[in-house]
Amino acid sequence: MTSLRSRILIPLIALTGVIFALFGVIAERAVTRELTRGLDEKLLVMAQDVGSAVELLPSGDVEFEPEDIGMSPAEEERDHAFYAIQDASGFMGIASRNTPREELGSVVPAEGEFRRLQVDGLPLRICRHWVERKPEDEAEDGETAPAESFLVTVGVSATNLDATVASFRNDLLLGGAALFVVLTLVPLLVVTGALRGLQRLSREADRIGPEAPGCRLEEEGVGTEVAALVAALNRAVDRLAQAHEREKRFSGDVAHELRTPLSAIRTRCEVALRRPRTTDELRENLQSVLETSKRLGRLVERMLLLSRYQRQGVELSLRETDLSEIARDVMSLHGEEAEKKDISVRMEVGGPVIVQGDEDLLRECVSNLIHNAIRYTPNRGQVTVSTWNGSAAGIVVRDTGVGIEKEHLDKIFDRFYRADPARGGSGSYGLGLCLAQEIARLHGTRIRVESTPGKGSRFEVVFGGDEA
Ligand code: ADP
Repeated sequence: MTSLRSRILIPLIALTGVIFALFGVIAERAVTRELTRGLDEKLLVMAQDVGSAVELLPSGDVEFEPEDIGMSPAEEERDHAFYAIQDASGFMGIASRNTPREELGSVVPAEGEFRRLQVDGLPLRICRHWVERKPEDEAEDGETAPAESFLVTVGVSATNLDATVASFRNDLLLGGAALFVVLTLVPLLVVTGALRGLQRLSREADRIGPEAPGCRLEEEGVGTEVAALVAALNRAVDRLAQAHEREKRFSGDVAHELRTPLSAIRTRCEVALRRPRTTDELRENLQSVLETSKRLGRLVERMLLLSRYQRQGVELSLRETDLSEIARDVMSLHGEEAEKKDISVRMEVGGPVIVQGDEDLLRECVSNLIHNAIRYTPNRGQVTVSTWNGSAAGIVVRDTGVGIEKEHLDKIFDRFYRADPARGGSGSYGLGLCLAQEIARLHGTRIRVESTPGKGSRFEVVFGGDEA
């Protein structure tokens, strides 16, 4: 795994290096071209001067006075300057002292040709220039000699030019290297500074755990982009902390719920064993132990159901299910309960109300709502069950019972939550609504509740449509 720093810096440094190298090559070539052009211009002028100083005699001879071109011996010496005059056949009639006769050879060059020559390790720049001329005097027989052409070659040492280019190249290399170091160091420092924030974050993240649930990552000093990530991570940590807290509470609640019936069983047994008992006394004790263990069994069963519904990937057997039929069936199962309390039951259930659902789970959900409605409604109250459909479909369970105080409304779906434990009686575990809500959630909806303390409550599950 490569570090973030090298992933940012290596391409940056490589790119800077390539740009510098390209710039250096282009700059050196431009300077060389400019200096060479200047030298070539001088050489051409010199060649033209030599050309015009040459005199073609009617005899065919060539006359040339070196003083006419104003080249001093000192210049000849210092710049290694030379000139040469050749005829069309390549014969070199006139040549100054430094002329590299052999190298010039007899090659016929194009007009104004410039080139470099290396003579005994000395770099030379030369210009070869053709001159077309008529002889000035007529020959003795009175005829004009035919037009003559000759080649003038001039040259100077290119050492100065090369030295200037080399010194420019050195300056470029030095300056470029210094600039390169600066341009590399600056991003290095900037990136290192920016990464310091991330290193701090990883140290802080190491501290987060169940033993320090309040610990969060500091969003300051990491830049807006990373701060957004840190905020998202903090939210995730919050959610995990809440889930962890819920789990802890659940374990505590389970232990608490199990302790009461278990200690009731133990007390019953201890009391029964304290002294010899009649058969009837033993039967009565055993009966009580049996009742308590049945309640315990129901509690464990509900907890298992809850954990099954809350597990990821619960498989529902979804099919078209009639809410009206479920309402009627479930109500008839609770009929005896309602009768015992003289509660009047109203069924506002008409034709089929079809939803896509798991029938068994929906029965369990509706059963919990109806059971609660009867349980929390005093004698001679009323429980109404209605189903409806339109753009969506739903089932409503209403009662004229004790109602729920506002402060409890958002908690009654929590595990083991009881608004008033005294009212629920021995079978109340605070799991019924939690189970019903989980079933609704598995169907992509949720249970809504409205309640007025002392007047009654209304629980509704809506399937489909915007309200689901
Ligand atoms: P419980 O087994 O205690 O009924 P539930 O999860 O079914 O557990 O309900 C949680 C709490 O919500 C109950 O203890 C009760 O206080 C309140 N509750 C539920 N349904 C009703 C209702 N129809 N009328 C009044 N209170 C209700």
